[in-house]
Amino acid sequence: MIERLVVASKNPDKIAEIEAVLVATTLVGELVRGLDWPDVDETESTLEGNALLKARAVHEATGLPGLADDTGLFVDALGGLPGVTTARFAGPRATYDDNVKLLLATLGDQLDRTATFRSVVALVGSGEDLVAEGELTGVITNAPRGDNGFGYDPVFEVDGSTLAELSDEEKNQISHRARALQALVEML
Ligand code: IMP
Repeated sequence: MIERLVVASKNPDKIAEIEAVLVATTLVGELVRGLDWPDVDETESTLEGNALLKARAVHEATGLPGLADDTGLFVDALGGLPGVTTARFAGPRATYDDNVKLLLATLGDQLDRTATFRSVVALVGSGEDLVAEGELTGVITNAPRGDNGFGYDPVFEVDGSTLAELSDEEKNQISHRARALQALVEML
């Protein structure tokens, strides 16, 4: 059990999902909120490298173990794009909506719409550095559906529903991020 842990993200959507998964495990005693740290540029070329960068920065700034996630959407017909640059697909200040619109426009009427979300979580500051990965494969829809979730959820369909059509609990049972966290818990 890790007594106190900081979730190394400033994205409220991600924090909510990570916290919901963690509180259902016995991994963490207290999730410490309300701390601040300098923004971290994601300068590495891999999800693992960027997750470690973020977790390390938070551990160094707060003195507490930091848990970070880095996620990418890998679309088969686009040769794996947007991949590591998923957050900035439509530019450095892109909104979720900008990114989704560009993805749909880039895919056009392409028939192979297979895509995989990959999440890498990194834990730094509680023994040796640990990383774990989770994946979810689905298809990119032709138009957004659903109001829940965030990012590309409205256009990522699994078993007939987009992730934005699932409840938070349903998404957390199958998501790339939840799977990565579960794999991390099993390593500890
Ligand atoms: P990063 O992990 O902070 O680099 O962000 C990756 C980007 O991927 C985010 O800005 C979102 O647009 C998107 N993303 C990450 N996780 C999810 C998810 O669970 N569903 C939909 N989009 C996501």
